[in-house]
Amino acid sequence: LGGSISRAIQQMSNATIIDEKALNDCLNEITRALLQSDVQFKLVRDMQTNIKKIVNLDDLAAGHNKRKIIQQAIFNELCKMLDPGKPSFTPKKGKTSVVMFVGLQGSGKTTTCTKYAYYHQKKGWKPALVCADTFRAGAFDQLKQNATKAKIPFYGSYMESDPVKIAVEGVDRFKKENCDLIIVDTSGRHKQEVALFEEMRQVAEATKPDLVIFVMDSSIGQAAFDQAQAFKQSVAVGAVIVTKMDGHAKGGGALSAVAATKSPVIFIGTGEHMDEFEVFDVKPFVSRLLGMGDWSGFMDKIHEVVPMDQQPELLQKLSEGNFTLRIMYEQFQNLLKMGPIGQVFSMLPGFSSELMPKGREKESQAKIKRYMTMMDSMTNEGNSNPKLMNESRIMRIARGSGRSVRDVMEMLEEYKRLAKIWSKMKGLKIPKKGEMSAL
Ligand code: GDP
Ligand code: MG
Repeated sequence: LGGSISRAIQQMSNATIIDEKALNDCLNEITRALLQSDVQFKLVRDMQTNIKKIVNLDDLAAGHNKRKIIQQAIFNELCKMLDPGKPSFTPKKGKTSVVMFVGLQGSGKTTTCTKYAYYHQKKGWKPALVCADTFRAGAFDQLKQNATKAKIPFYGSYMESDPVKIAVEGVDRFKKENCDLIIVDTSGRHKQEVALFEEMRQVAEATKPDLVIFVMDSSIGQAAFDQAQAFKQSVAVGAVIVTKMDGHAKGGGALSAVAATKSPVIFIGTGEHMDEFEVFDVKPFVSRLLGMGDWSGFMDKIHEVVPMDQQPELLQKLSEGNFTLRIMYEQFQNLLKMGPIGQVFSMLPGFSSELMPKGREKESQAKIKRYMTMMDSMTNEGNSNPKLMNESRIMRIARGSGRSVRDVMEMLEEYKRLAKIWSKMKGLKIPKKGEMSAL
């Protein structure tokens, strides 16, 4: 896919005259590529129409960077398509919320329920899991195993066959126990499809969820729209989670799910394990959809973010797959020096939605400073290798920096998260001087 899009744009920028035909050819190529990426035909067509309105042929002819203009227009258009215009309901810590998961069997509901619970638990919530899947044998065992591993309370039954009854019992119990995030897992199959949707409607009616999350397997292809729409018609879907993004699928179906449910994607699943779960970030997602990798814009932005003299060394280290604590420290320093223009930094993978959420720059800066104090304490102590970490070291670092053990753990988690994202830079071909913007 990436190949054909870059080829299309490349061909076009090589053409001496950019006329309507050249632009059309280019858009047709891109259309084919997006269809292969499972973006629904209707959505692709809409995008094509919009691009034609946006891209001004005169600008292109005047010798502006055509490739960039078109690429940017497509990129923006896809980002817009993933934004339904309103955020989803967001549960509040300490206040009881019921969240119901729906989706076809195999989409990853049960796995994602646990990931969602675990994600919040790490942030100090009191989540609980309810298994309202009575159709599939072993459904309760699977949830129980996951929940036990994550030390999350769970509810379910081997005997009861009425999912509505179990859902209500579970929700009631955990409300009494003051859990603030009660997650209801449901079945994804039935003897008859109609019965499945009726069951979802009944479970929702009985448990009154604050949020219904539609879980979608990224590899379902063009079926995404109908599937999402079918669920939306029986329950009030308010958010989407796309799973198996670690596989080959590019996840174009997400655009369909957003269009069909008028709800945003909130997380993506990136593996079978509990912590392979990321807050949805539109830019890297679209880059991937277009086959540009998560690193689109990175080489351009690195000029603005990282001081000139640090650039070659940083790229070299990243290409070796070494995202060290030192690198994190230096990038934090750069980030603080830039002050409120943390905007630029949001282009760097991993630094955006989690570390520096929009509108909360002050808090983020305080957090980063806190991390740096603890990292100083680690270095002072003579060993900055985060891999050689144990309880007593963590306690020493906490003491040395005047922070709590929990703070140190949080900083180390943050390091692990960034290191994982940045390890994808391994094997990166480092462009020679002057080649940067050609990427
Ligand atoms: P459910 O039937 O909707 O409850 O789906 P499950 O949670 O049982 O998941 C079905 C399969 O997909 C299991 O083998 C999961 O381990 C796997 N799975 C779920 N999410 C992901 C993901 O993000 N990445 C990968 N690679 N596998 C996943
Ligand atoms: Mg399940």
